[in-house]
Amino acid sequence: PDLSQEHPTVLEIDLGALKHNLQVLKSRLQQKTKFLAVVKAFAYGSDALKIAQTLEEEGVDYLAVAYTSEGIALRDGGIRLPILVLHPQPDQLSRCIDRCLEPSIYSPRLLRAFVKTAEEKQQTDYPIHLKFNTGLNRLGFWENDVDRVNELLQNTRSTKVKGLLSHLAASDDPAEKEFTQAQLKQFEKIGKELVEKLGYQPLRHLLNSSGILNYPEAQFEMVRSGIALYGYGNAPEFDAELKPLGRLRTVISQLHKIEPGESVGYNRAYKAEAYQLIATLPLGHADGIGRQYGHGKGQVWLQGQLAPIIGNVCMDMLMVDVTGLDCKEGDPVIVFGPEHSAEDFARGAGTISYELLTGISSRVPRQII
Ligand code: PLP
Repeated sequence: PDLSQEHPTVLEIDLGALKHNLQVLKSRLQQKTKFLAVVKAFAYGSDALKIAQTLEEEGVDYLAVAYTSEGIALRDGGIRLPILVLHPQPDQLSRCIDRCLEPSIYSPRLLRAFVKTAEEKQQTDYPIHLKFNTGLNRLGFWENDVDRVNELLQNTRSTKVKGLLSHLAASDDPAEKEFTQAQLKQFEKIGKELVEKLGYQPLRHLLNSSGILNYPEAQFEMVRSGIALYGYGNAPEFDAELKPLGRLRTVISQLHKIEPGESVGYNRAYKAEAYQLIATLPLGHADGIGRQYGHGKGQVWLQGQLAPIIGNVCMDMLMVDVTGLDCKEGDPVIVFGPEHSAEDFARGAGTISYELLTGISSRVPRQII
């Protein structure tokens, strides 16, 4: 069902903020460095097609998604930019080729499957990106796979290495600088080995958002940014320059005056110690605000102040303590946004903006502003 005319909780998406953040990021890069925008997971929970369209107009060079189907949805929406698929599934490689998506190939098994598919589809020089593991230990070939990869590629005309990538494990963590620098070095070394074998320089891309901030010397030919485009930089000095893309806003459904000893919500998990004013808001764990935000861990913004979420978060509602605030039913409330950052909201519950943003469920209407 389409709840866009009914759900009082709305995720506003500010495309002006997106353009601003892109410029902030570009100002930190050399002009020749290509820019890949990561738009996986519905563009970090916003609206992948709108974001991709805007970024295409703004002149980014590349997009990346996690899955082939995400890339196909963008092609169906008319996106013509090169699209990197970060985690293609072996049985989707044929669809990947059909829609001109560029797979990130991260294992001998996937490379064999890709070459087989590309040959069956009579491709010549189909562009792929090789992903190497330099310490994240998640996806990627190992450095000593270079020869093997080369051998597989020498025996086919179907496939051509267009890009080389790796992913940093802790680019936002100053305490892990040595580790990150070792990742940079290893990436550079793999790049050199590969150039020798291939006879040309593929597009190398390593840095994510925090990498752009902290290791600009390693921008190579392209960078891959996600979270900073959406307004969060994993560092106060970066956050200060960026503008949050999303604002999750809602309204007060009902106010209740409660007395000392009365409880609020399921399991009677909150008990009032004094006379209190409680506001019920129409969003809950079915909207992506999980139970971890209950018990005072999450705070919302109203009347220029923060008010704690109390008791257990319900499926469709949550309650906040608004004692002492001058508010009435129907008043607007900001769950997170420019006024109260998603990073701060998430931190209260021990998580990060990435999880909060990508978890806002499809029930919440997205409104472009
Ligand atoms: N590159 C890869 C391989 C990723 O998985 C991600 C996101 O998780 C990014 C780049 C973008 O990272 P960030 O959002 O921190 O900029």
